[in-house]
Amino acid sequence: MNLKIERKSMSELITFKQYGKQQNWVDGKVYGPSSEKNISVISPYYDKEIAVISDSNAEDLNQAVINAKNVFPDWAATNIRDRVEVMYNLKSIMKNDIEQLAHLVALDNGKTIADAKGSILRGMEVIEFAISLPNLLKGDSSNVSQGITCTMTNEPLGIVGGITPFNFPIMVPLWMIPTAITTGNCFILKPSEQTPLAALKLAEYFKEAGLPDGVLNVVNGSREVVESMCDHPDIKAVAFVGSTKVAKIVYARATANGKRALCLGGAKNHMIVVPDADQDSTAKGLLASSMGSAGQRCMAASVAVCVSEVDPIIDQLVEEAKGFKLGIDMGTIVSKDAYNRILNYINEAEEMGATILVDGRNETPPKEYENGYWIGATILDHVNPDWPCAKEEIFGPVLSIIRTDTLEDAIKIENENPYGNAAAVFTTSGQVAKTISETASAGMIGINIGVPVPREPYSFGGWNESKFGHGDITGRSGVDFWTNLRKVTSRWPESTEAWKKYF
Ligand code: NAD
Repeated sequence: MNLKIERKSMSELITFKQYGKQQNWVDGKVYGPSSEKNISVISPYYDKEIAVISDSNAEDLNQAVINAKNVFPDWAATNIRDRVEVMYNLKSIMKNDIEQLAHLVALDNGKTIADAKGSILRGMEVIEFAISLPNLLKGDSSNVSQGITCTMTNEPLGIVGGITPFNFPIMVPLWMIPTAITTGNCFILKPSEQTPLAALKLAEYFKEAGLPDGVLNVVNGSREVVESMCDHPDIKAVAFVGSTKVAKIVYARATANGKRALCLGGAKNHMIVVPDADQDSTAKGLLASSMGSAGQRCMAASVAVCVSEVDPIIDQLVEEAKGFKLGIDMGTIVSKDAYNRILNYINEAEEMGATILVDGRNETPPKEYENGYWIGATILDHVNPDWPCAKEEIFGPVLSIIRTDTLEDAIKIENENPYGNAAAVFTTSGQVAKTISETASAGMIGINIGVPVPREPYSFGGWNESKFGHGDITGRSGVDFWTNLRKVTSRWPESTEAWKKYF
């Protein structure tokens, strides 16, 4: 796929649009829920309402499950090649509509258009993976003993659910849905109530791609839908992506109800910088990782652990960060609450004695977007590893620099953090790279790469407090999560006398 992403000036990009009341998507159509409660959807570019969604209840979720149950037997019995055909179509529909979709994601979430497009393309890689599933789902078979054969096949679970966060409104649902439905399941998505609009669009694309009604359903809402999904006896598996606090709640509740659960949580990722690192690519790598998506991604590294003397790299990082433009290099913060939370972390670090090398608190917003929730790139130096800004997930464009004398101390700081999504090292030494790749306590490691997202078909998932449940959300691991293995062991008796004459 080669879609060129162009950077334009801000004002021609994110136009305000009011989408009005949005319902759920059930049985292949817009579906008015029974709940009378609503949630206002605010564009962080404008601090203005762009839509209203339903805050659905347990009965609304149940309605989606009933519809999905009706279609599950037919969908599960559909030939895998026909299921994959939907994915081929989906990919081409999304590719053709990427401009409009990126605009919707940006308006709803606060991303720049370039960032929104990039995230959509990354999500589409999972569609490509789903297209390859006939190769993976062909089953295993061998003679395990004299006259005895074992076969093993992946079978769908039934009705499954996914709960997604605000920060990647298309990519994270696509981590789940293509694999779950191509393996034969029916899916119910509960998107983030902060950024729900793109998920409804995605459901329309699936229908246009030929997905039978009821296979994919979107139930908007908040806590009640999530809890009902964890409790519903006909939902067999729940995947969650969001904060660690909620990941733990969902994992505990879903598994207590006997469900399979995989819950990806928050992160506090470290980048270790040693003196032999290449100056230019390291400075740029630190900046891109910490400030890309305005720091609102679980792969953002928000701590740079600088070993010994690396000041030329930090000097360049500071220069580059000062040139980072709001609205072009990064978008807005998702909400007023998140904006205030991030400012509190910066103010607190300043009071505790951090040196503010770059201060994004009073950056001038881009013209025409003065009411948006903007925070510029912020770099804090001489941060103590015990301060909140060094230990907790800020989820904003704030990089804390911790200084250490030895690599051993740097590894200790990384290892002691309870999260474990990603870690990176910047070095030209094979020995240092090998040491970090073997000792960092994180699921995804970058060597001279600040955002080490494994591309499909390699799987995505962290460790420790960044993930609850077994396996990863994408790749082969995702197939295992959404399926059961059926094992058939066969022995065929000797042919009877009557049949022997045919041999
Ligand atoms: P969040 O945990 O607040 O919300 C995620 C989902 O949970 C939403 O759909 C929301 O409606 C629901 N939810 C919120 N509170 C709930 C409650 N008390 N009970 C039941 N459901 C509840 O997360 P967010 O703010 O939308 O997203 C940001 C977080 O997601 C960050 O912590 C980020 O690191 C994490 N994240 C992790 C990954 C990963 O791969 N590990 C990827 C993306 C985002």
